Amino acid sequence: MARAAVSGGLTARRAWRPARLVERRPETATASTLVLEVAGWPGHQAGQHIDVRLTADDGYQASRSYSLAGPADGDRIEITVQEVPDGEVSTYLAEDAESGASVEVRGPVGGWFVWKPEDSGPVLLVAGGSGVVPLMAMIRARDGISRAPFRLIYSMRAPKDRIYDRELRRRATENGELTISFIYTRTAPEGETRPVGRITVDDLVSHGWTPELEPRTYVCGPTGFVESVSDLLVGLGHAPGKIKTERFGPSGP
Ligand SMILES: Cc1cc2nc3c(=O)[nH]c(=O)nc-3n(C[C@H](O)[C@H](O)[C@H](O)COP(=O)(O)OP(=O)(O)OC[C@H]3O[C@@H](n4cnc5c(N)ncnc54)[C@H](O)[C@@H]3O)c2cc1C
Repeated sequence: MARAAVSGGLTARRAWRPARLVERRPETATASTLVLEVAGWPGHQAGQHIDVRLTADDGYQASRSYSLAGPADGDRIEITVQEVPDGEVSTYLAEDAESGASVEVRGPVGGWFVWKPEDSGPVLLVAGGSGVVPLMAMIRARDGISRAPFRLIYSMRAPKDRIYDRELRRRATENGELTISFIYTRTAPEGETRPVGRITVDDLVSHGWTPELEPRTYVCGPTGFVESVSDLLVGLGHAPGKIKTERFGPSGP
């Protein structure tokens, strides 16, 4: 019986479900949040992702993975898509998709890169670019349920690329147990004292937790970013088993 229930759940998660785009909200000039309505959505954990499939009039199909950006609101889920230049799926979703558009989704997918509100202890989140999406889901999932102290280190090219900018700043101001540090790799805002450049050991020491506190650590972004940050953290003495990573490489077939 239990086995049938588990395999029934797995089959449902692997099946494509129709989804309707309810709203598309620009986050930056090149990234949008999409609210999708999926009848019978089973719920998900912070850090999981979905596959989104588009079908053209001639039957051509393309699917890509996108992280869930926050807890579900009934049958409504949110993803945030960063446009990749000349990208087949991201340019449509981030720029052109209009309310009422139909897509298909499959999921939720993934059980490793997740944070649960019952997980106690300090959390370090390290994001590169759109890698902030599943980490934002963790910050939102924590709301009013957990008092686990969170630190987010968020690296991007320039201030104009900050996704969830206002919400992150508001949350950090309202909640003393959430700190946010921005790292700029190409252009910094006026008054920023840190020189532009990729994330360094000093950034992780200044804005993260010490290894002795054994923080749960989540690193997400482009493959090179994730590998470099993980190496730096291990070099600082963080236990590899405490570092969970998600690589946002190309996800098409
Ligand atoms: C588990 C997972 C979760 C993801 N979550 C998100 C998310 O929340 N938000 C988000 O915006 N993206 C996310 N991605 C990336 C996303 O799945 C697509 O790869 C991305 O949107 C590009 O798809 P595309 O069809 O536009 O580009 P494609 O047409 O597939 O590729 C166009 C060109 O861009 C390159 N390219 C493709 N993907 C990337 C990439 N991610 N980075 C750099 N170059 C790339 C290709 O090699 C190719 O040269 C996630 C990927 C994975 C594996």
